[in-house]
Amino acid sequence: MKKMCKWYFVCPMKYFYEQGKIDKSWIENYCKNNGKNCVRYEKEEAGIYHPDNMLPNGEIDENLS
Ligand code: SF4
Repeated sequence: MKKMCKWYFVCPMKYFYEQGKIDKSWIENYCKNNGKNCVRYEKEEAGIYHPDNMLPNGEIDENLS
């Protein structure tokens, strides 16, 4: 069953999405799918640092701030 990622409400991707800075497909494909395959999610779980401008697929988007 598809569920919202447990990190969504504290995740910068939510903020960037609401600001119109990232495409809705990121939210649909990762955040609304329980964080499945999200690199941010995996790093969060492992307690590994990851910058706010790292996308769910692990790419850094230098334009995000
Ligand atoms: S970007 Fe990843 S960690 Fe952040 S809310 Fe979406 S799925 Fe969860």
